[in-house]
Amino acid sequence: MGAWVEDIHEEVVDRNPHEPEFHQAVGEVLACIGPVLERYPELVRYKVVQRLCEPDRQIMFRVPWQDDQGEFQINRGFRVEFNNALGPYKGGLRFHPSVYLGIVKFLGFEQIFKNSLTDLGIGGGKGGSDFDSKGKSEGEIMRFCQSYMTELYLHLGERTDVPAGDISVGPREIGYLFGQYKRITNRYETGVITGKDAAIGGTLGRVEATGYGCVYFIEEMLGARGQVVEGKTCTVSGSGNVAIYAIEKLQELGAKVVACSDSRGVIHDEQGIDVQLLKQIKEEKRARISEYAAALDRAQYTGSGNIWETPCDLALPCATQNELHETDANKLAENGCIAVAEGANMPTTPEAVQALGRAGVIFAPGKAANAGGVAVSALEMRQNAGREPWSFGAVDKALRATMKDIHRVCHTTAGEYGLADDYVYGANIAGFLKVSRAMVSQGLV
Ligand code: GLU
Repeated sequence: MGAWVEDIHEEVVDRNPHEPEFHQAVGEVLACIGPVLERYPELVRYKVVQRLCEPDRQIMFRVPWQDDQGEFQINRGFRVEFNNALGPYKGGLRFHPSVYLGIVKFLGFEQIFKNSLTDLGIGGGKGGSDFDSKGKSEGEIMRFCQSYMTELYLHLGERTDVPAGDISVGPREIGYLFGQYKRITNRYETGVITGKDAAIGGTLGRVEATGYGCVYFIEEMLGARGQVVEGKTCTVSGSGNVAIYAIEKLQELGAKVVACSDSRGVIHDEQGIDVQLLKQIKEEKRARISEYAAALDRAQYTGSGNIWETPCDLALPCATQNELHETDANKLAENGCIAVAEGANMPTTPEAVQALGRAGVIFAPGKAANAGGVAVSALEMRQNAGREPWSFGAVDKALRATMKDIHRVCHTTAGEYGLADDYVYGANIAGFLKVSRAMVSQGLV
């Protein structure tokens, strides 16, 4: 079975050249499902794996817009509708200069299994653009979002494809996208996009969900080993909404977060990151974290620092893909780190995951640990469909319950396959099983 899986991977690499992140994401799933295919050989006959590796639909389009100087600008837009066996395509939009088809495909592929783990009836998709929001004015961002939606709306629908945010796409961008959708279609179809502001049908708790959810997962993971979050020293890479709310929840539970970062540098604050100050800088001023050290004497900013060199008990990579390498993993283990949980999508390289495993560091893959964001998006869809907003407390309670369930499923599934304590196997196998059953029951589509 190993060789068969390897052949599929080779085929994916051949058919999708120059998309290393997509190859990596597929490789990570394929490496785990051999035992499942042995147990359920019909999945081989139904070519479930090959079908999963080929997106249902890949949309690429031109996004023309005009900058503040009146100059015309052209970006590229993407939406990959990967698999809708479990429900409408669901997944965020990422605006970042690094975005190309391979990134969107890796994210869309991961989303299938992550969404499957939430058990909330959502398929997998992802989109975005190579648009760089940095340094753009409010007006430029709005015009870009309007132009992006002028194409994307053709492909959306509350039962078809429901995007949300990701890197550089938050409630502001979602609002502009929704406004344009409404204008073009003349439909106030709130369920067509999630991550909206509460004023236009967004759920309370969506901004916090990915970060909080990741910490709830860690709580479960430590709890299963008789440990608690309280008293732990943590490092959290990134300073976007995943990082900010992971820091907030960690500190609420009595941990101390001593470092966070952005793409330019690292902040160290031995007394614990002041999350209100961080929010002011990142959310209100949309500024760089170097301003944190400028505003607070006790903190240090290093322009070229590597956050993973900071000793900690818990490390949460919450920035972007492939940000934690093998050398970082070894350093973390050497410094006594007991657990790594991915708040971002695929931030840990496969070599680093292996190194953590060898060193006995518990590892929570993003598919499971960061599923809280999309889970709360699914709750937003539910509230929109019922025209019934929930309280923050109700959303948070449901998020906590979902993360608890995801942890349990990953843990028990890994155990059933004789791979106890391996959340990578647990998440991939459980996510794969659910979606493949749904695919088989729907016939060859
Ligand atoms: N972009 C987020 C993720 O990586 C959330 C997607 C959503 O809310 O639909 O899961």
